[in-house]
Amino acid sequence: MKLFPGLSVKVAVLLVLSVFLGGCGSEQGPVRLQGRAIGTTYSILVYGLPENLTSESLDRGVKQVVAGVNSAMSLFKPDSELSRFNACNETDWFPVSRELAEVVSTAKEVNRMTGGAFDITVAPLVNLWGFGPDKRPEIVPSEAEIKQASADVGSNLVEVRLDPPAIKKLKPGLTLDLAAIAKGYCVDAVSNWLESRGVSGFMVEIGGEIRTRGTKPGNVPWRIAVEKPVSMERSVQAVISLTDKAMATSGDYRNYFEVGGKRYSHIIDPTTGRPITHKLVSVSVIDATCSRADALATGLTVLGPEKGAAVARKYNLSVFFIAKTADGFAETATGNFPKHETLN
Ligand code: ADP
Ligand code: MG
Repeated sequence: MKLFPGLSVKVAVLLVLSVFLGGCGSEQGPVRLQGRAIGTTYSILVYGLPENLTSESLDRGVKQVVAGVNSAMSLFKPDSELSRFNACNETDWFPVSRELAEVVSTAKEVNRMTGGAFDITVAPLVNLWGFGPDKRPEIVPSEAEIKQASADVGSNLVEVRLDPPAIKKLKPGLTLDLAAIAKGYCVDAVSNWLESRGVSGFMVEIGGEIRTRGTKPGNVPWRIAVEKPVSMERSVQAVISLTDKAMATSGDYRNYFEVGGKRYSHIIDPTTGRPITHKLVSVSVIDATCSRADALATGLTVLGPEKGAAVARKYNLSVFFIAKTADGFAETATGNFPKHETLN
């Protein structure tokens, strides 16, 4: 079942392949956990299980964390906190879990950093273009419809406080869509839980968003492959090492529809109310938390190659941009994005 908007196509395929290349590895293999989370799949590798934990108890714990995030943030669950907030037309403070308040707070931070490009209030436009929970036929909306849907868009229309956790609409029609940050948040929630249980070496991956801690046995770093941004084949564009950090990738090359030979992405530019059209096809962000990396990847994708790279440099973000050129792909790396080995 689809729990989040915009993930229908991505469910089957990951934007980033977590491949475990080379390395000497250990004789004792990792514990591997797999399952479904927030409309996509997760895959977790753990080395060095503490004595008080078994793979079964680990599995149960992870499932509980994932269920908690779902019941806070899913738009496809009518009784989730987010669905109840969206359905409520009051403009008073609406008490929510700390998790939901935190994610809205991070979303507002990334909204500021990206000059409004990342915007969780874009929900009415996402729905209008057919990528939301009210799935519609793949048609291009009229200018009047776009204008109407844009009326309730703007992150200044939502307020958040952490203590006690609550969110507030400044306009009754405001609705939120957390699809571009919830996977990253869920990766953080699972990672924090694993750390709290004393697990010191792991890789958590949900729908292509990743966070690692420690290394594999023998000090071998986790190595992650960034997928080549094409919809027809699965191949590797670059490989990087990732230690104690998160990486999220945004790309418009799989989730889109076509009308009259024109491709309409699921990522909407809030300033135009329309799907992005530029040549930036994939953006990977490395950050301390996966929620921020996830949101930044989507926001920088909206901004496009030039403005996106300028924001990345302004905040010293570690980002890897892949843009389409006439004869292939052009790469730009900013900040400390690790030197990668380009395979082809
Ligand atoms: P990607 O990995 O390609 O960035 P995500 O799943 O992270 O994709 O985010 C895309 C989803 O976020 C869309 O399907 C939509 O629900 C929502 N979205 C679209 N445009 C924006 C935007 N400008 N800001 C925040 N969320 C958006
Ligand atoms: Mg994202």
